[in-house]
Amino acid sequence: MSMFVRKRVLVTGGAGFLGSHLCERLLRDGHDVLCVDNYFTGRKDNIAHLLSNPNFETLRHDISTPLLAEVDEIYNLACPASPKHYQYDPVQTLKTSVLGAIHMLGIARRTGARVFQASTSEVYGDPDVHPQTEDYFGNVNPLGPRACYDEGKRCAETLFFDHRRQHGTRIKVVRIFNTYGPRMHPDDGRVVSNFITQALRGEDITLYGDGGQTRAFCYVSDLIEGFVRMMDSDDDITGPINLGNPHEIPVRELAERVLALTGSRSRIVYLPLPQDDPTQRCPDITRARNLLGWEPQVGLDDGLRRSIDYFDQLLGGRSGVLSG
Ligand code: NAD
Ligand code: UDP
Repeated sequence: MSMFVRKRVLVTGGAGFLGSHLCERLLRDGHDVLCVDNYFTGRKDNIAHLLSNPNFETLRHDISTPLLAEVDEIYNLACPASPKHYQYDPVQTLKTSVLGAIHMLGIARRTGARVFQASTSEVYGDPDVHPQTEDYFGNVNPLGPRACYDEGKRCAETLFFDHRRQHGTRIKVVRIFNTYGPRMHPDDGRVVSNFITQALRGEDITLYGDGGQTRAFCYVSDLIEGFVRMMDSDDDITGPINLGNPHEIPVRELAERVLALTGSRSRIVYLPLPQDDPTQRCPDITRARNLLGWEPQVGLDDGLRRSIDYFDQLLGGRSGVLSG
């Protein structure tokens, strides 16, 4: 039986969608949590319920500037994640990924802390290997509108592995595939939040392209379990490791599921496909299964129902679609 050890954990981006669920989980496990966020896309509402916990602290700070902290573990999640937000100020997005990684690695090197990087399936770009395995180098347009995010995350990965080789820093790199659930920003333009809020408001469902492009959607609680298992794994497990749900569907089918589950009478309208939108994406999670004993447990309908409940409350019991 292993003894419980309370750790001091720094979570950057802790007021965001994934970060707030992670802070909650770490506090529940009995750890001390320092949430660092500049509230660019995160919201104080996401962490309001944690503020009364004496083990929880917050700091407003931009990780593209230096930070000193004395911690045992760092989860580096700070970075806008939706195309709408990361394209708003692309230079700042790059600074957040690259300088943020440099600063977090610096803390890890000085303190001996483990440092976890929230990388992304976007490092694979518009992939021509399918499903994506971690040894695939990717197909990223370095000049396109998504590059500030994709290349920033790729550079951050390079920094992590160079730090490991050069300084022996204890790194943990995961590549996250599309994840959804409560506390997604309702206006960040991502597909799950868009479709659900559109359905609940009775607005048109905006399907880009012909809806034949595929994605695989992971429910947030499954992802957070993967984060913690990765952090707790042996030092020689550095990643990169894909974390995502391997159940791949066309985006059109997601629209149909949301319509069915909300009972909404919204219509589907077809809009142009954004530039460089990947045509297919699905994780190969063999590594996560073998090294972490991890795989998603929550099915799409179940996760969508929980998300619909959240957005329904957020919109103020809204449109009456669910209730009547
Ligand atoms: P989010 O936008 O909800 O959270 C990002 C958080 O980082 C926000 O609270 C924001 O205010 C904060 N932030 C942004 N720039 C900052 C800066 N310079 N300094 C301090 N804080 C800053 O997005 P999310 O979905 O929770 O994503 C969290 C992480 O996971 C991101 O790094 C993202 O790239 C990665 N990721 C998410 C997904 C997904 O499907 N949700 C997929 C792949 C990767
Ligand atoms: N999408 C869509 N309608 C929307 C928002 C997104 O059809 O209102 C599509 C988008 O073109 C992409 C997929 O849904 O093919 C997932 O988009 P998202 O921005 O959520 O994440 P991505 O996987 O592109 O980073």
